[in-house]
Amino acid sequence: MDKRIEQINKAIRNVPDFPKPGIMFKDITPILQDAELFAVSIDLFAESMEGIRVDLIAAIEARGFIFAATLAYKLGLGFIPIRKPGKLPYKTYKEEYDLEYGTDALEIHQDAVQKGQRVLLLDDLLATGGTALAAAKLIEKCGGEVTAVRFLIELTFLNGIDKLQQYSVHSLIKI
Ligand code: AMP
Repeated sequence: MDKRIEQINKAIRNVPDFPKPGIMFKDITPILQDAELFAVSIDLFAESMEGIRVDLIAAIEARGFIFAATLAYKLGLGFIPIRKPGKLPYKTYKEEYDLEYGTDALEIHQDAVQKGQRVLLLDDLLATGGTALAAAKLIEKCGGEVTAVRFLIELTFLNGIDKLQQYSVHSLIKI
């Protein structure tokens, strides 16, 4: 394993029974507060996109924003926020989805992506895959192409990858 991935892996904090009993929450804040680890995680995302042309990076609030916005700056790309209902001020598209702990919905601005634009979708963690699939559908509703999907962490035992079979998915850390 890449030593840098090992370092990031070690920094992930497991918080049992958050936000509900039975959920082992993967807390990424120790990565963010360490300047070197935060930079390494962005570098690894950038390396995973080498040779892949995209026009925009879209991410799911809130933790996805942190990595995606930083990566967008590094790669010289625009950033698209995908948010919980009622947060985006302009005209939106909406997608409902199942979460590992409950159900929810996501929204995107209708003019966030132009027809045919190539989009990287990024989030901190892939669990059951419902969130990422909803986000991908929103990008497609706008007329965009989901060229690549990236996660910092993938919980492989939940098989979320099965929901994303039509996409090119890569996770930095598989647990
Ligand atoms: P899912 O739709 O089941 O793939 O859930 C993914 C979304 O929920 C991501 O935005 C994660 O940030 C969050 N999430 C789900 N399970 C966990 C977990 N065990 N630890 C941290 N975040 C989680």
